[in-house]
Order: sequence, then C-alpha cells, then structure tokens
Amino acid sequence: MIYKEFKGKKLSALGMGCMRLPTYGEDKTIDEAKTAEMFDYAIKNGINYFDTAWGYHDGKSELVVGKLLEKYPRESFYLASKFPGYSKETWGRAKEIFEKQLEKCRVDHFDFYLIHNVSEGNIDAYLDEKYGDVMYFVKMREEGKIGHLGFSTHANLENMRRFLDKYGKYMEFCQIQLNWLDWRLQKAEAKVAMMKEYGNIPVWVMEPVRGGKLATLEEGYAKQLQAHREDESIPAWAFRFIQSIPEVCVTLSGMSDFEQVKANIKTFSEEKPLSGDEWNTLMSIADSMVGRKTLNCTACRYCTTYCPQGLDIPRIIEHYNEHTVSGRSEVSPRMIASYAEDKLPTACIGCRSCEEVCPQNIEISEMMSDFAAKIK
Ligand code: SF4
Ligand code: SF4
Repeated sequence: MIYKEFKGKKLSALGMGCMRLPTYGEDKTIDEAKTAEMFDYAIKNGINYFDTAWGYHDGKSELVVGKLLEKYPRESFYLASKFPGYSKETWGRAKEIFEKQLEKCRVDHFDFYLIHNVSEGNIDAYLDEKYGDVMYFVKMREEGKIGHLGFSTHANLENMRRFLDKYGKYMEFCQIQLNWLDWRLQKAEAKVAMMKEYGNIPVWVMEPVRGGKLATLEEGYAKQLQAHREDESIPAWAFRFIQSIPEVCVTLSGMSDFEQVKANIKTFSEEKPLSGDEWNTLMSIADSMVGRKTLNCTACRYCTTYCPQGLDIPRIIEHYNEHTVSGRSEVSPRMIASYAEDKLPTACIGCRSCEEVCPQNIEISEMMSDFAAKIK
C-alpha cells in the first residue's frame, strides 16, 4: 500500500468509501458478512482510512461501519464522517447530529470530519451565521472530538470560493469529484488550483472511477490505452491518472465487492503515474467522450441578457451536459436544488431570443424542453 503523509499521520492512499457497500434484498440491506470480509482484507492489506457519512445507505452505513470497526484497535484506523448540510432539515442541528453520529459509529471522536457536499443549494445556509453549523465543528476540533476538519463539494467555482473566503482558514482538506473525465468537465483541474490558492489545502478524491462509468471503455478507446500499457486494466488507468496529481492525498473508492477491494489494493501497491504521452491520450479520449455527447457552450453569456425569464442558460447547459454524460435517466435532486423554482428549465417559454445571439448555434430552447421533461 502506498501511504501519504498528512500532519504527522500516515494515511493509506486508497481509502475505503462506505457509500456503496454490498447489499441484498429489495430494501437493499447492507450485507454485513460480505462487508466484514472486505474490511478485514482491506485492513490486513494496509487500508487505514474509512469514509462514511450520515446519509450513506439511508443512515445505515455509519451503523455498520461502527459495528465492524469496533473489533479493531481504535488507533489502527482513521474514521471519517460528514455533516449532512445538503438537507434543509439539518441546518442548525450540528450538535444533535454530531453526537448521534459518534453513537452510531461507536467512537468518542472522528479522526476526520467533513462538511458534506457544499453546493449551490446550501451555500447560503452554510454562510449564514444564524445556523452556526460550520463553527460548531471548528469547536469540536478544538475539543478533540474531531481530528481534522474538511469539506466535500460539488459546487461551482464561484460558490467554492465563497465558502473558502469565509471558512478556508479552518479547512484542512477538501474532497472533490476528480477523475480523468471530470478533470475538465467538472473543472476538477481548476478546483485543485483553487485549493493551492487557499494555503495548499490537500485534496481528497471521490468518484475516481465516476461511479464505475470509467471502469469499462469502448473498444477503440481501450486499444489506445493498451498501446501505452498492455497490462494495465481500464479501472487502473483511473487510479494511475490520480497518482499523477501531487496535490492528492487520499483517494476514496466506494467498493461494493471483495474483488474490487482486491483489485484496487493491487493497483495501490505501487505508484505508476502517467507519462506526458499517456496523460495526453487520456485527455483526448475524455474530450472525445464529452464532445460527442455534450453541447459546446463556451459560457460567453451573450444569451443571458436576452432571456425574458432570466435563466442562467450557461449554468443550465453545464448541468445538462453533466446529466447527459452521466447517462442517468432522472435528473439528480441535487442538481435541481441548485435553482430557484422560477429559474429551472421548466420556466423556459421557448421564445428562442437566446438562440439568435448564440455564436455556437446551440438549440437552447430544445435543450430546455428536453431537460424540463427529465425533471418532471
Ligand atoms: S428560449 Fe427559453 S432560455 Fe431562451 S431566451 Fe427564451 S425563455 Fe430564455
Ligand atoms: S450564447 Fe451560446 S455559447 Fe454563449 S453562453 Fe449562451 S448558450 Fe453558451
């Protein structure tokens, strides 16, 4: 296992993400026996970082993780959990939720703790001092109930900056969606650069294989990669990409079965970052995959002043592209929550004023109606 130094601690470069544990039955009960087997193998093979959250598996992940880790010495693993501020119901309830989390996880402190999913839908609440949630966790760190405080985010760059301007001085790490497809698509590159700007905040990676989407590739793309490294598996390329980014400390993989744990541990037994040529090949595959599916909006914003509904057209296109590339049929509630009701694609009246000024000739009104149909 590769280890990374973080403030005197030796963290396994591969962390066990506990959001997609093995399940059974229609109600998707976590399979504790299989999870125990995975944890055991992981610990024996050097993984010492476990990442859960209040919301994972409808609240059951913390319970199972706490129960299974209890049999190992407390100092032999690092446990991370998160405050679910993405949900309105939790705002202002930091103390109550945190104390419950300690109980669920059967610990008296978290080694790492994150403000979960800072995003367009909750940034104003996090910045609003009347709730006081973030500062409560700063206090918990001072009291030793949190070892290190950080945040995870899917926010756009502007809102990340707003969060960092207010709380950056307290944040010791930042967890973002980073993989070779999102390096440009979700602006992971710019997010890594922003962390450097705010005092070299180390990066934790989530979704390294984009929920499994980067674990397989079309034959043509796979052949391009094999031409560089014959024996590297397709999922391993995703991890080799991340190993090429020095700002990254821990990479979390939401592993769902024993074979994944074994394969990922094998990949993280050695560091094999990409050469310049390999990086360029991967980026050109990413551009090709994204370009074939997405609308080429340059965010010039020529269109926005022409919209009688005041829609943030480039931002909506960004979400539309993300949704298209993800290949989901439903639009994620998180995406919808980032808009006021009257600023959703459903508010478009199809007047096409925007299209008359769009230099990219994007059929914006069609995109809006397609997106609106998916939201309904
Ligand atoms: S077509 Fe829709 S998005 Fe375009 S200007 Fe009209 S209302 Fe706005
Ligand atoms: S005018 Fe076209 S390219 Fe420019 S922001 Fe609007 S949709 Fe995007």
